[in-house]
Amino acid sequence: MTIRQCKACGNPFTPWPQTKNQQFCSNPGCQNERRRRKQAKRRRESPIMRESDALYFKDWSAKNPGYWQKYRAEHASF
Ligand SMILES: [Zn+2]
Repeated sequence: MTIRQCKACGNPFTPWPQTKNQQFCSNPGCQNERRRRKQAKRRRESPIMRESDALYFKDWSAKNPGYWQKYRAEHASF
């Protein structure tokens, strides 16, 4: 049986056989962290996901006026 170290809390845990490359233990806090990292990763990789994060964007673009006009002009083909 394999023992791994949780990437969130650092405690050793036994990964589920059906979950490949499990890196977090079953603590709710660590599962939240896993979800958070997965979401952050997806957001970094997917422009669609990024665009759907409307609230964050609205707030961010309010602080960065003019950025999106410039961005859209430069990335018009996408
Ligand atoms: Zn953990």
